[in-house]
Amino acid sequence: MTYTVSQAADAPWSIEVVHARAPRGAFRFAVFDFDGTVSLIREGWQQIMIPYFTGELASCPGALNIPREELTETVRDFVYVNTGKQTIYQCIELAEQAGRLGGKPLEPLAYKAEYHRRLELRIADRIAELERDPSAAVNHVVPGSFDILAALRERGITMYLASGTDEKYVNQEAALLGVDRFFAGIYGAQDDYKSFSKKMVIERIIRENNLHGRELLGFGDGYVEIENIKGAGGFACGVATDEVKRRGVDQWKRNRLKSSGADIIIPDFTGTRELTDYLFAPKIGGKNAL
Ligand SMILES: [Mg+2]
Repeated sequence: MTYTVSQAADAPWSIEVVHARAPRGAFRFAVFDFDGTVSLIREGWQQIMIPYFTGELASCPGALNIPREELTETVRDFVYVNTGKQTIYQCIELAEQAGRLGGKPLEPLAYKAEYHRRLELRIADRIAELERDPSAAVNHVVPGSFDILAALRERGITMYLASGTDEKYVNQEAALLGVDRFFAGIYGAQDDYKSFSKKMVIERIIRENNLHGRELLGFGDGYVEIENIKGAGGFACGVATDEVKRRGVDQWKRNRLKSSGADIIIPDFTGTRELTDYLFAPKIGGKNAL
């Protein structure tokens, strides 16, 4: 993808601290985003959605004199703005844009179904490989995912998965990757899309467990979950993995996570030891020991 600028592949793993004073150490609950944060099964979904949506807009009467590149830019913008929310929101925006260009938009659910059909063709080989050989999971997760999940479980952290992808797929793919066993709850998009949002999941976890914000730790690669975690008073860890190389930082993701309010940014979880040392460092004299 053109926006990906990676750090040197041989750069050492490190934490980028954005907010050094953000409270840490008291975590009891953690919320993980799924796609791009733990799972790489759907890596490349943008390359399915953007050309498909662009083609839909290009077929509208009002798009006759608009260069293809301009339409692609428009689509790219609204796809990224809605990344992390349920897929249906991107489809709702497509329908609105098509209407504005004089087209006859489909129902957003129809766009979503066609997008899923195309995406499934792309990821079918990955799913088949995982069904054949569960040990292949390590090739389809953000590096170090199993380490961080095991380390947090060892510390007694209760973990939840919250995704904008349909819940049935999240359940299926989390099981295929063998990460489902780490989570006390898995939440994904519902057919009634208004009944689910990451914000609602986070608020529910806080309410049901009588949590204070500083007991909440969040991991995500998109701005939606970072903003939601920060909005709830939690600590947000941005995961800026270059999904294609599976190594190093994706600079575009990193910039976006930083401007969304992430407290720290990491390339992946291969530095689980350093990461947990940082997250749980005892405070000495009001300052963290590290
Ligand atoms: Mg994500």
